[in-house]
Amino acid sequence: MDIKTVMVVGAGQMGSGIAQVCAQSGYQVIVNDIKEGFLDKGFAVIARNLARQAEKGKITNEKRDQTLSRLRKSIDIRDAGDVDLVIEAAVENMEVKKSIFAELDKYAPEHAILASNTSSLPITEIAAATNRPEKVIGMHFMNPVPVMRLVEIIRGLQTSEEVYQSIESMTKSLQKVPIEVNDFPGFISNRVLMPMINEAIYALYEGVATKEAIDEVMKLGMNHPMGPLTLADFIGLDTCLYIMETLHEGFGDDKYRPCPLLRKYVKAGWLGKKTGKGFYEYS
Ligand code: NAD
Repeated sequence: MDIKTVMVVGAGQMGSGIAQVCAQSGYQVIVNDIKEGFLDKGFAVIARNLARQAEKGKITNEKRDQTLSRLRKSIDIRDAGDVDLVIEAAVENMEVKKSIFAELDKYAPEHAILASNTSSLPITEIAAATNRPEKVIGMHFMNPVPVMRLVEIIRGLQTSEEVYQSIESMTKSLQKVPIEVNDFPGFISNRVLMPMINEAIYALYEGVATKEAIDEVMKLGMNHPMGPLTLADFIGLDTCLYIMETLHEGFGDDKYRPCPLLRKYVKAGWLGKKTGKGFYEYS
């Protein structure tokens, strides 16, 4: 299928990055969020990223301006009326995603593919909120999107082969590497990553070591580019908690129970870098 226009739902950390790479690859992009303020924040991040790339000589000023001219703001989901693909990157919550997909199903053209950037929620269940489950698929980008090359592509139970092929080639057109994964909680990336982060939080909670020591052990000892507590702050502690809850509920196994310290921080509004405080403080 020929994809020309993309709607990105959610202008947060992930949505703004996805919108940026789509626009940089020549797609017309409509970015949708619930409030102008969230869109302004997302667009400011994109403008900053592109300006930095131009300053470093990685892109020309012309390319920067062309990219910006392909991006449009929307606070009305009915703007999906003219798109070929929607990539949803709203909060990691099944009820929110189901209601967004039901709306998209109403307003997006019949041929449009509806993708979710969910980190862990079942694509099959999201697809069931629509009348086009064969056109629903997972496109799991990594954070930060402009930098990270992997996109996990998740086939729901009813995702058609044609839709899979279109999304695989669209992903390649973004200069990313698609990897096919089946629909199980957390897919591969977060099924492996999140229990490690949760265990690091347990180690802090139980007083095994300080946060700095835990992060240093994993950096110096395992050659990880950043420690698990720093990484959790970058991902967002609310997102980490949602993912652990999805693994816990999806597998029914207590080895996935979220650490009480993670719950406490989320309740306090300490969501990591995006709110200025998580395990560490950010100015
Ligand atoms: P975020 O909190 O930064 O952004 C979410 C955005 O969605 C906000 O701007 C919010 O206003 C908007 N939103 C909420 N409800 C909406 C609705 N009904 N319609 C339109 N917009 C709505 O979150 P994020 O980190 O960008 O995560 C977004 C999604 O991407 C989640 O599903 C998350 O699991 C997934 N994801 C996150 C990461 C990560 O590292 N943070 C990595 C891969 C995937």
